[in-house]
Amino acid sequence: MNLPKHKIPIVEIPIGKKVRLFIKREDLTHPEISGNKYWKMFYNVKKYLEKEVSDRKIITFGGAFSNHIAAAAALGKEFGIETLGIIRGDELENTWQENPTLSLAHQNGMTFRFVTRETYRDKETLMKNLQEEFPESLVVPEGGTNENAVEGIQFMLNEETQDFDYLCSAIGTGGTLSGISKFAEEHQKVLGFKAVKDESLEKRILNFSKRQNFTIFDASDGGFGKITDENIRFINKFYQDFGIVLEPVYTGKMLRKIFELIEEDYFPENSKILAFHTGGLQGIKGANEMLKKKKRNLILLHDKN
Ligand SMILES: *Cc1c(COP(=O)(O)O)cnc(C)c1O
Repeated sequence: MNLPKHKIPIVEIPIGKKVRLFIKREDLTHPEISGNKYWKMFYNVKKYLEKEVSDRKIITFGGAFSNHIAAAAALGKEFGIETLGIIRGDELENTWQENPTLSLAHQNGMTFRFVTRETYRDKETLMKNLQEEFPESLVVPEGGTNENAVEGIQFMLNEETQDFDYLCSAIGTGGTLSGISKFAEEHQKVLGFKAVKDESLEKRILNFSKRQNFTIFDASDGGFGKITDENIRFINKFYQDFGIVLEPVYTGKMLRKIFELIEEDYFPENSKILAFHTGGLQGIKGANEMLKKKKRNLILLHDKN
């Protein structure tokens, strides 16, 4: 696995306030292996490809709309590695074809096993059993978070990110924020925006990063994957005003919270704030199908979505 050759742009969002807000477009890292998922899999896959293995296979986990599942399938296709997705919810066994994330993953060569929520919850056992069943496979945990994943996040930081006062990222399983915290400059403050209500995240991030330079905000807004009308309005307005597409699960919720913090004067005057756009735009299609069924407002579709 190689580092992408193109430069990832940092763009200023003209908010007209006493602080300056920028976005690093990690969503442009790779067309399908989106945003932070590329970096989280980077060392995992690189090390695996260096091993002598005859029956190569990547096995990983996720829900029906998982960005990580989509990214793992695309990565498997790119490197010619078989992929197996363990999907939460056995009710999807017969309906997965209607789900845009899973059908795209399947087109990219992924095969699935659907498991009950109960089986899925005990991931330790599940992972152990799969490793025994496929001894030569690479079993990547849910959301791709492990030590290797945290190491890979260092590539989201570079010379250009060094003079920002604040580094902001959405949090799912915490791997991305752990890496940002671990590799941030001494003077930088790291802000994490939880998309999931999980009280153990702070500790997990501290375990990975071993630094106290981060603060966590709850941006779960009704719970993980829940999409409020206000969330949709914000995403659509953000696109109209600034031409950047956000998705409703992570980046939309994070930026809305950052805007609130700016309004509350959380940031000292002249602060330079950098928010990472961690990608995940593939999820918009599935979100819109759900919204459409409920006759609710949709997320405005743009070019590639
Ligand atoms: C997975 C994901 C995150 C969260 O990353 P973690 O390392 O699991 O915390 C944030 N944003 C997007 C778009 C994602 O797909």
